[in-house]
Amino acid sequence: MSAQIINGKEIAEAVRQDISKEVQQLREKNVVPGLAVILVGDNQASQTYVRNKQKACEDLGMHSVLIKQPADLTQPDLIRKIEELNQDDSIHGILVQLPLPGHIQEKAIIEAISPEKDVDGFHPINIGRMMTGQDAFLPCTPYGIMVMLEHIDYKLEGKHVVIVGRSNIVGKPAGQLFLNANATVTYCHSKTSDLAYYTRQADVVVVAVGKRDTITSSHIKEGAVVIDVGMNRNDEGKLCGDVSFEDVKNKASYITPVPKGVGPMTITMLMKNTVKSAQKTLNLDKQAMKS
Ligand code: NDP
Repeated sequence: MSAQIINGKEIAEAVRQDISKEVQQLREKNVVPGLAVILVGDNQASQTYVRNKQKACEDLGMHSVLIKQPADLTQPDLIRKIEELNQDDSIHGILVQLPLPGHIQEKAIIEAISPEKDVDGFHPINIGRMMTGQDAFLPCTPYGIMVMLEHIDYKLEGKHVVIVGRSNIVGKPAGQLFLNANATVTYCHSKTSDLAYYTRQADVVVVAVGKRDTITSSHIKEGAVVIDVGMNRNDEGKLCGDVSFEDVKNKASYITPVPKGVGPMTITMLMKNTVKSAQKTLNLDKQAMKS
């Protein structure tokens, strides 16, 4: 059996068409959804991510602001910038690109962002709201994974989902969203003994580790759905995931590739969250959720 490929690029494109209509509706009411991105330092990968986010905003007719700061920016100065953006009515979403230089505490920065503009969904208030099943900005990568599974009409209720990786931005919130969807969830991490024992029991395996070839065909059962979040480079310098794609695709029923898998969904859900934040200023978000 060869797995069906879940094409994240195509799904992201379809979602962006819907977002584009929502942006149009907001613009007709004189609201232009605005995203501010703060980039501290000159990390190459971060610069690429930030460029992609800006381009996505522009393509959708949204307002985007890039605030570039030197690597020696102090934590109080960064918090002051965030507070200015919290007060700026033209900005509906604020994102501080991670990682930050070592002298700045990520936790303090995330908490400085108003929960109403926390379109990354990292603020403890949004995480708490998500955990208790309330309306919240969902973290973009886990949110994108759920939309991908919805797109292939995969029913999660009663399924066993094994999440490999327990970071605050991917693994942990992904497990919570699967739990909210009535799946049974198991978390694995670097201290898990016998990873394959757990992953072989999974109907769905989500891998967010950051090491290539973490999951091979011997780690999964026949017909499993495999979601690869990882972004690594192979020996030729090409982008690859955490899953041995060629090997696993012969055993899985569905698999996400890298590139063109989870990555394009993450940026798309960031746009979705920013539009949702703008809709909230007009109380349009409830209507958009119904439609
Ligand atoms: P982190 O480094 O924060 O977390 C990695 C997790 O993997 C940790 O929980 C760690 O366990 C676990 N782990 C490490 N080694 C093993 C192992 N051998 N077996 C099982 N678990 C292991 O990473 P992120 O969650 O931030 O990112 C993971 C990957 O996803 C990276 O490649 C990143 O680039 C990519 N990514 C991709 C995105 C996209 O849009 N496609 C978005 C965000 C991330 P422990 O907690 O015990 O240390």
